[in-house]
Amino acid sequence: MKFRKICVLTSGGDAPGMNACVRAVTRAANARGVQVMGSLGGYRGMIHDEFVDLTNRAVSNKIQLSGTFIYSDRCLEFKEEAGMQKAIAVLKSHEIDGVVAIGGDGTFRGATDLSQRGIPTIGIPGTIDNDITASDNTIGFDTAMQSVVDDVDKLRDTCESHARCNVVEVMGRGAGDITLNTAIATGAVAAVIPECEFDEEATIEKMIRLRREGKRSFLIIVSEAFPEVGPALVKKITSVTKELAEKEGNDRLWIESKFCRMAHIVRGGSPSLADRVLATKMGVRAVDELLAGNSDLVVVEREGKITTCGIGWSQVLDRMYKGTLKEGMLDAYTPEQIAEMQKFIEEKKETFRTTYAMLNELAN
Ligand code: ADP
Repeated sequence: MKFRKICVLTSGGDAPGMNACVRAVTRAANARGVQVMGSLGGYRGMIHDEFVDLTNRAVSNKIQLSGTFIYSDRCLEFKEEAGMQKAIAVLKSHEIDGVVAIGGDGTFRGATDLSQRGIPTIGIPGTIDNDITASDNTIGFDTAMQSVVDDVDKLRDTCESHARCNVVEVMGRGAGDITLNTAIATGAVAAVIPECEFDEEATIEKMIRLRREGKRSFLIIVSEAFPEVGPALVKKITSVTKELAEKEGNDRLWIESKFCRMAHIVRGGSPSLADRVLATKMGVRAVDELLAGNSDLVVVEREGKITTCGIGWSQVLDRMYKGTLKEGMLDAYTPEQIAEMQKFIEEKKETFRTTYAMLNELAN
């Protein structure tokens, strides 16, 4: 099939580096003689016929910008068959032969739906959360972590001055990747993540021991998967240490604690070098895959190399990782493929456990 025109969209939560990816898709396609249209606001643009022509000049001066200049939206209409058919009709009216969809797992479900209805579609993982199991890194993850580190370093300054603890909640949805890495990078005393067991009592005991040894500043990084944990932990640390300080008549043992929810602040900011390069490589690869006649794939990074896997495969890996596989989901795969998936998941979990143990060992 000869591709004449493709469409690119950004969907779901925005992530730094999405613009660099749109630029790469555009320039790679244009270089191969293929026109590009940007669907405005994710799948919404396809339904409402809202597009922008993406020429090489239209994507200039965008590589360094965060957010997404072709906008993102959570388009519920696209989840319905009627909405999807409307989108397909609009795509056909523009003679669009293929789609590159940049986003997270929801975006990929839409990409599969389009692929199955005859519109070749390739997904690119654009999300700060790093929760696409099949890819070692997602676009925006590196920048978001650096933003957390920059801000937590500032909190540490004041913790050290006042001999305090700061409990910081960071984004990442159900994945603890941002939390664990930033806990290590900020020298936190503990991290609370969905992947590993957090021992609250042992952490507070350790903090008290460290305070007796003269440690002044304490940081604990908590995943947004546990919205109640951060504020509760602050209360607990404050009350337990206050009681101890009173009992021993030593006010230095009191560890005054504060809570900080970083939320969307870390979704902004100029994309890091790593995210710009990843976005560029993935964008070019997605165009190459489409033009080679492939569909229903997600571009991933594995051990530093850009490669692809089926979107279905990627979704099974996500579910296997989270333990949410449903009956029949593995039916399409051979025992060897299932064993390969299980090995991959086990290795990823083991890396998490080892890194978590390392954090706890060094937090001393
Ligand atoms: P993310 O891509 O970051 O996971 P969402 O889950 O919000 O974010 O999905 C982004 C968009 O992808 C949705 O607003 C919708 O337009 C589309 N989408 C999500 N799930 C499906 C689905 N099951 N079928 C078709 N489209 C979907």
